Amino acid sequence: MTDIALNESLGSSYDQARERLRNALEAAGRAQDAAKLLAVSKTKPAAMIRQVWQLGQREFGENYLQEALEKQTELADLDDIVWHFIGPLQSNKTRAVAEHFDWVHSVDRLKIAKRLSEQRPAHLAPLNICLQVNISREESKAGVLPEALEELAKEVATLPNLHLRGLMAIPAPTEGVDAQRQPLAALREALTSLQSSLPDAPLDTLSMGMSDDLEAAVLEGATLVRLGTAIFGTRQSA
Ligand SMILES: *Cc1c(COP(=O)(O)O)cnc(C)c1O
Repeated sequence: MTDIALNESLGSSYDQARERLRNALEAAGRAQDAAKLLAVSKTKPAAMIRQVWQLGQREFGENYLQEALEKQTELADLDDIVWHFIGPLQSNKTRAVAEHFDWVHSVDRLKIAKRLSEQRPAHLAPLNICLQVNISREESKAGVLPEALEELAKEVATLPNLHLRGLMAIPAPTEGVDAQRQPLAALREALTSLQSSLPDAPLDTLSMGMSDDLEAAVLEGATLVRLGTAIFGTRQSA
């Protein structure tokens, strides 16, 4: 594939993804700025991120720390880019994440949140946090179980260098918008209930909706949809 072909196909899939989000917001009767697109660039080269940035995209999501740090170095001249860490996070990776990202969507235990707060450099704004919820109650899946969410959220909200912004989930795959909506509605309800138990926390974010369930997520109130395949094409399995 030539560079020009890469440019054109990436440009048109990015345009289509933005149009899909616009249409979904309209169909849901929501304002056009009610949900933002997070471009999930895991396994994709820095050159593709740069192209999408040139088309106006600013929020990018990465899953694998080492790969992300390398791309951030290559893209250091893009100073208004916003980096979201959305992958599984172990204790030994928290320092680099606290230093190099603006958001973390995958916090599901207090120990990780405490480390992120302690390790967040003082000259940076507080790190934005979404708690990942195991909304489909899948065994051996990441995420706090719904019944343990409120206790975790209350503790995380007290940590000084974090801003608890909301919730993230990756529901078990299902076919059809109606079936897809059920776990997404449960995540929305969980956020609503946290907003009343933690009225001082800046809880404005529902990180849900991927390439296969964007429309269902927008119908259920997603504010940040995480699209990978729909923008960058299929991934080689990592
Ligand atoms: C990979 C990934 C995505 C993007 O998934 P697509 O189906 O490619 O859109 C979204 N969220 C998380 C947490 C991911 O790991």
